[in-house]
Amino acid sequence: MRGDSPGQARPVVVVGDPVLHNPTEPVTAFDDELAGLLEDMFATMYVAEGVGLAATQVGVSRSVFVYDCHDDDDVRHKGHLINPRIVATAGPEQRIEEGCLSVPGPYATLGRPFSATVSGQDKQGNPIEVTGTGLFARCLLHETEHLAGTLYIDHLNRRKRSRVLQAIEPFPWNGPLPQVSTSELIDG
Ligand SMILES: [Zn+2]
Repeated sequence: MRGDSPGQARPVVVVGDPVLHNPTEPVTAFDDELAGLLEDMFATMYVAEGVGLAATQVGVSRSVFVYDCHDDDDVRHKGHLINPRIVATAGPEQRIEEGCLSVPGPYATLGRPFSATVSGQDKQGNPIEVTGTGLFARCLLHETEHLAGTLYIDHLNRRKRSRVLQAIEPFPWNGPLPQVSTSELIDG
């Protein structure tokens, strides 16, 4: 495991659950409950061996994500963002494989800009801005989009999206997959 958190890992919600497909509520209370949610999200991300995790992925419709991810220069970035908003991206586009803990299937190649800047708040409510390159830029965009109800597979064409969804299998550390038919997922 790459990191440690005093929080408690929660089950990861899987594609098809409405919480993943709808925009989140902005956070307005920067309190102990928010700090506890962040600790649980870090614990969940480490158990799942992810590089980022959005609150919707633990079934909480609030605009929060955490990350622990390396950038293009192999510098490690660990932190959180509340109420994130993409403010800038810059090329060149990088086409590499992307995956998602809420889509436990094969990865798919997706083009993303080389760098991204996201603004938001920290857990005390102070304004912050984070810029990332490479995998970290991809992570910032992927997690910010989660909070708007968008999954990376929503960027794929119908055929590729269907290929990923048909191959999803539960992770050993998570609960069983929900009973949702693949055709429903493709149309939804
Ligand atoms: Zn994801």
